[in-house]
Amino acid sequence: MSESLHVVCPHCHTTNRVKRDDLVKTPDCGSCHQPLFTAHPVPLNETSFAKHVERSQIPLLVDFWAPWCGPCRTMAPAFEQAAAQLEPHVRLVKVNTDEAQALGARMNIRSIPTLALFAGGKEIARQAGAMAAGDIVRWTRSNLR
Ligand code: ZN
Repeated sequence: MSESLHVVCPHCHTTNRVKRDDLVKTPDCGSCHQPLFTAHPVPLNETSFAKHVERSQIPLLVDFWAPWCGPCRTMAPAFEQAAAQLEPHVRLVKVNTDEAQALGARMNIRSIPTLALFAGGKEIARQAGAMAAGDIVRWTRSNLR
């Protein structure tokens, strides 16, 4: 028997229990029946961000960005590619700091893009500036060791 993990749905943000061994079998959400992993970063607002950070037992990699930021737009395809490589062992999400200004201020985001890695409800690493897909994957994995 493998251990169960809490996985927060990227569509309806309900917390699901999934056995660790079943993560790679493309599980569906028990509430909205959509896939729990889509190989795409999930856009979050203040409310859904809190649910994912507090409840997810899968590490969360957050891209704090804004639409007017050139380097953020440059990094967007790299972050997409990183999602395909890191899921289902890491959940990749995006927070638009123009829309979630209070969250950006609370998280003390001083420049964008900023990547922040959360595990067990706590921030464990942060990196400012755009990165290539391979660098995002390596940086994430090295911080989760
Ligand atoms: Zn769902």
